[in-house]
Amino acid sequence: MRILQVASEAVPLCKTGGLADVVTALSQALLDGGDDVRVLLPAYRGLLERVEIERRFELGDPLGLGVPARIACATLPGTRVHAWLLQCDPLFDRAGGPYVDEQGRDWLDNHLRFALLARAAATLALASAPMGWAVDVVHAHDWQSALVAGYLAWWGRGRAATVLTVHNLQFAGRFAPQLLGAIAAPPSSYAPAGLEFYGQISLLKAGLVWADRVTTVSPTYADEIRTPEGGIGFDGLLRHRGAAVQGILNGIDDRAWDPATDAALAQGYDATRLGDKRVCRLALQRELGLHEQDDAPVLGLVGRLTWQKGIDLMLGGIDVALAQGAQLAILGSGEPELEAALAARVAANPGRVALRRGYDEALSHRIFAGADLFLVPSRFEPCGLTQLYAMRYGTPPVVRRTGGLADTVRDEDEHPGAGTGFVFDAPEPGAFAAALQRAITTWRDRPHHEAVQRRGMAGQFGWARGAAAYRRVYEEAIAAARAESV
Ligand code: ADP
Repeated sequence: MRILQVASEAVPLCKTGGLADVVTALSQALLDGGDDVRVLLPAYRGLLERVEIERRFELGDPLGLGVPARIACATLPGTRVHAWLLQCDPLFDRAGGPYVDEQGRDWLDNHLRFALLARAAATLALASAPMGWAVDVVHAHDWQSALVAGYLAWWGRGRAATVLTVHNLQFAGRFAPQLLGAIAAPPSSYAPAGLEFYGQISLLKAGLVWADRVTTVSPTYADEIRTPEGGIGFDGLLRHRGAAVQGILNGIDDRAWDPATDAALAQGYDATRLGDKRVCRLALQRELGLHEQDDAPVLGLVGRLTWQKGIDLMLGGIDVALAQGAQLAILGSGEPELEAALAARVAANPGRVALRRGYDEALSHRIFAGADLFLVPSRFEPCGLTQLYAMRYGTPPVVRRTGGLADTVRDEDEHPGAGTGFVFDAPEPGAFAAALQRAITTWRDRPHHEAVQRRGMAGQFGWARGAAAYRRVYEEAIAAARAESV
């Protein structure tokens, strides 16, 4: 099967969150299973210098912007995955992030930047196969590429099949309806059964409405987004799509994330050499300026510092553990008020709370390895990758029972002798604190803690199962697209 993945991020070229890990690891797993895959990604500033360009293809001006676009063909570094980098310098060659400028403000022309990505994908997926590679299915990810399903549906018969994966429904790609013409959407698409969304347009909705299949990243999140509370305005549409909507649990790249071979760590270890993990713990304490203490647990947290991630819940419930000597190692960046509240905790707890602001892939590995317990107190979590990395690194997670966290972590007290972590229900500091206390009590009982660690490390979180599930969805989508064109 020939699959065109279309995404705004893919490791190792560009990453702001889990989407980037998923796109590359899924593509590699599909490739390993015998499928043919290309990843279409914007050529943000500096990307082209990091790859070897094998050929270029002139795409013309697919959106009528008056500026030409082209595809640079390369391979994602460190993988065998073919990348098609969409070059359009006025839109993508800028200092700043993929979505925001250097001040953290959304780029004002994001509608054009990502409409171009979707339009390029639709053009490349035409039956005429402009690049000499006939596409069976286009797999779009999140709002930044969802419009491809709209373009192909509007162009009509004989089209490639389309699949949209929602990595986070909260990001709906909302813009003013006056921009409809600029993104080359027909006026008739501004309708409740189209792009219209509470008086605006939502680019995500193009995929929710027109993709042959819609997936999200865990079975529980697939259920949650079909309820009024979790569906944030899209639940009716998602219920209406019926069996076309499914949840497929994300995997992880278990070669890149292996504590036995991880080059970022001071010392490799595996489930039979858990003692060696303590070298990583001590190295982490040194690196972050935490007291080199052995008799208090080190709690790790890596991620976006946002309301969604429950950082305020954690701050509200952490004091009892800190008073007992626990240490906290945090890596991330996000909402200024939460960053400020965390900075205040650092100041109040020298040597016991450390915060590294910003994005640091290698340090994230060292936190997964060096911490004793890992915190994921999210209010909602479509899948979540950090709890999977933590379990793989023998660091039992404390998580809220929501989305993919509910699907991947088994509470040790609810399932004595079978748990892989600790789970709480209410999105409240007290519920988090109680679960953390249970985790710390278990940590103090070393053989018990080691049993929980080993179970987490034995988990099968690779992509083989997920890739097989996506392959089935692609087949369904191809059948649905064919049925439509008969
Ligand atoms: P989301 O996509 O909602 O941000 P996920 O848990 O699905 O959350 O994925 C987040 C990914 O980004 C994980 O691989 C995590 O390790 C990584 N990550 C998040 N923040 C940082 C950071 N500050 N430094 C390094 N890696 C980070």
